[in-house]
Amino acid sequence: MWRETLDLRINKGTKFRLFPQAPFLDPQGEPETVWVSSPVRSLRPGPSDHRMLVVDPVGKPRPYGFHRGARGNVHLYLPPWRGERQPPAEPNEEGHFDHLDPGTPQFEAAHAFGAVRFVLDIWEGYFGHPVAWHFGRDYDRLEISLFPYFDNAQAGFGFLELGADLGDDGKLQPFSSNFDIIAHEVGHLIIYSAIGIPHPDTEEGEYYGFHESAADLVALLSVLHFDSLVDGLLENSRGNLYTYNRLNRFGELSGNDQIRLASNAVKLSAFADGWSDEHDLSEPLTGAMFDIFVDVFHEELLDRALISDEVEDLADELERHPEGADLIQPFFDEAYAENPEGFRQALLDARDYLGLALARAWGRLSPHHLNYVDVGSSLLEVDRELNGGRYQRIIKKNFGWREIDFVTVGPRLLPPGKRSHAFSARTLTPEDQPAPRRLSYRERWLLAQQGG
Ligand SMILES: [Zn+2]
Repeated sequence: MWRETLDLRINKGTKFRLFPQAPFLDPQGEPETVWVSSPVRSLRPGPSDHRMLVVDPVGKPRPYGFHRGARGNVHLYLPPWRGERQPPAEPNEEGHFDHLDPGTPQFEAAHAFGAVRFVLDIWEGYFGHPVAWHFGRDYDRLEISLFPYFDNAQAGFGFLELGADLGDDGKLQPFSSNFDIIAHEVGHLIIYSAIGIPHPDTEEGEYYGFHESAADLVALLSVLHFDSLVDGLLENSRGNLYTYNRLNRFGELSGNDQIRLASNAVKLSAFADGWSDEHDLSEPLTGAMFDIFVDVFHEELLDRALISDEVEDLADELERHPEGADLIQPFFDEAYAENPEGFRQALLDARDYLGLALARAWGRLSPHHLNYVDVGSSLLEVDRELNGGRYQRIIKKNFGWREIDFVTVGPRLLPPGKRSHAFSARTLTPEDQPAPRRLSYRERWLLAQQGG
C-alpha cells in the first residue's frame, strides 16, 4: 500500500547529462541524459534559477567557513561570492544543458547543477514536498561553488562547495563531476532541512553519525535512479547484491573518504568506549539500512516468485559471510536469466520503499538528543503506517544485529579532525560564534552582506 503514497513522476523539464560514476573512476563510462524538474527555459546561465546557482569563482582565497587568521583571530567566511567568475554554462536554444562537452568548465558547472537538482527531485518525491533550505531566512539561493583548490566537499549555510582530488596522474579530478559526492552533500542539506541542528547542550555524537549515514543513503538510493547503473548492477551481480559490485563498492571508489562502504559488518559496540570520527560512527547505521534494503529486495523477489523460499533463507544465512556470496551465486544466475525485468522491478520497488520510509522516518526526528534507537523506532512506526507493518521483523533483526538496541555510544574521544566536514562550516549559522566572544566588525560586516 506504500506504493499509492508515492508519486515519483518527475516533470520532464530540462535535460542534463550526468555521470552516474565519476569519469576518472570509470573512464569508459558515458554521461547519461536525464530530465530534471526545472521547467524548460526557466534556467539562466550559470546554471541558475530562483533556488540555486553555480559559481565558478576566480581568485577565491579559501573555502567557506570559519578561518583562523595569522594572529589566531577567528573569522567567518560566507557566500555570496562577489568577485570575478569564469564564464557560466549557457543553455542551448531549446533551454537544455545537455549539449556541453565533458572536460570543459561549463560542463562541470552544468553537471553540478543538474546533479543537485536530480537528487532534490528524487527526495522531494519521497518526502512529498519541496526541500526548503535550512538557511532560507538568510539566503534565497544555494551557492554551488566550484573550488578545485579545496580537497574536500562541504554543504553548509548557503553553500555547497565542491573541491577536487589530485589523481595519480597529477591531474585534478573535480568533485563537480562526481555524482556520489554531490548527492552525499545534498543529503546533508536535506537532513538540515528535515531535522535541523541541535544546540551544543542537546547534541549527541549519534547526531553526527546519523548525518553521515543519511547522506550516504541519499547518495546510494539516488544513484539507483540511473537506468544505466541499475542495468549494469544487475548484469554484474545477477541480483546477488552482496557480491562485489558497483553498489556495495559504492563510495569506496569515489576517491574520497567521505562516503563509507554501505555493506559493512561494524556493530555499535565498536564505539561503546567512545568515538572520534563521525564517518566511522555512521557505519553501523548505514550497514543496518543496507541490509534492510537487501532483505526487502529479497521479499520483493519472493513476492514475484523469482526466487524460492530456500534460496531466500540461504541468502539470509550467508549474508554475513563474504565467502557465502559465491555459494549462492549459481542460484541467482539461474533465477535472473529467467526474468531480468522482474529483478529490475523488484530492485526499484525495494529502492522506493526504503526512500519513502526513510524520508517519512527522518521527518519525525528531532535533532536534540538524537540517537540511533530513535531512528529505528521511527522506521518501525512508518512501516506500520505505510506498509501494514510488513517489514517489522526485518527492521528489528537488522538493528538488533548492529546492537543498536542495547549499546550506548561513548563520548567523543578526539576533537574533530580534518576529515570531518560535519562541524564548523556545515553546522554554523549566523547566530553561532566560534568562541564565547562578540563577533568582530569584519564578521558582522560579512553577516550583514549575506542578508542582502
Ligand atoms: Zn558527509
